[in-house]
Amino acid sequence: MEPFFLVASCILGLIIGSFLNCAAWRLYEGESMNGRSHCRSCQKLIYWYDNIPILSFLLLRGHCRHCASPISWQYPLVEAITALLFMLAYWLNPFDWLLLARNWFLLAVFVLIFVMDARWYVIVDKVTLPAAITVLGANLWLGIGWSGLLISATIGTGFFLIQYLVSRGRWIGGGDIRLGLLLGVGLGWPNILAAIFIAYGFGAVFGIAALLSGKKKWGSMVPLGTFLSVAGAITLLYGEKIVHWYLNFVNLQ
Ligand SMILES: [Zn+2]
Repeated sequence: MEPFFLVASCILGLIIGSFLNCAAWRLYEGESMNGRSHCRSCQKLIYWYDNIPILSFLLLRGHCRHCASPISWQYPLVEAITALLFMLAYWLNPFDWLLLARNWFLLAVFVLIFVMDARWYVIVDKVTLPAAITVLGANLWLGIGWSGLLISATIGTGFFLIQYLVSRGRWIGGGDIRLGLLLGVGLGWPNILAAIFIAYGFGAVFGIAALLSGKKKWGSMVPLGTFLSVAGAITLLYGEKIVHWYLNFVNLQ
């Protein structure tokens, strides 16, 4: 591991994080991905020096230069988290550049899905489907066997498809099925199982906490995509360790 590349990973993560913030809004509102950023309140263009990740938010103290309306905490938070994830991915895999590129790509996709589902309860196919195709290509290029990928894709898709059919779309949405496909081809076998378990574990903890605090009622919407993307990121980076630990644990019983 070289400090230079660690710093480069951090800077790349900040830039990608800044792009993801922008992409989340544009995908949600159906805007074009081209064109310069503008303030969400006064619509004025944002100068390049007011668009520097984290730094600009601090210098502007979280307010628009023109209309002084507050800028969401989402912006610096997403930039910081993406930078940390990119550094962690490099730190865990400093020598394999293709693997690292795939991990950065998937982590960026997970951050985007997390933000959009947490904020608006949407998982857009414009993100999940192209990402699934890209990561499938990368995994085949990395030499991951197609039979394992076929199994994990079937599990990822089938798990959510069955719930969708049984509940007639009440428990989960169609977007979750496509996210299941992305997780399947992205994480491979048997990591897809770990991701589903972890996501439902988080979901259960969050659900119970929300019920106890009185913030949610039974049957109110839970953004499953946020838990799945967090679980996806954890499994992407630590999947082998988790599966290894689990198999040891089972053997000891
Ligand atoms: Zn403004």
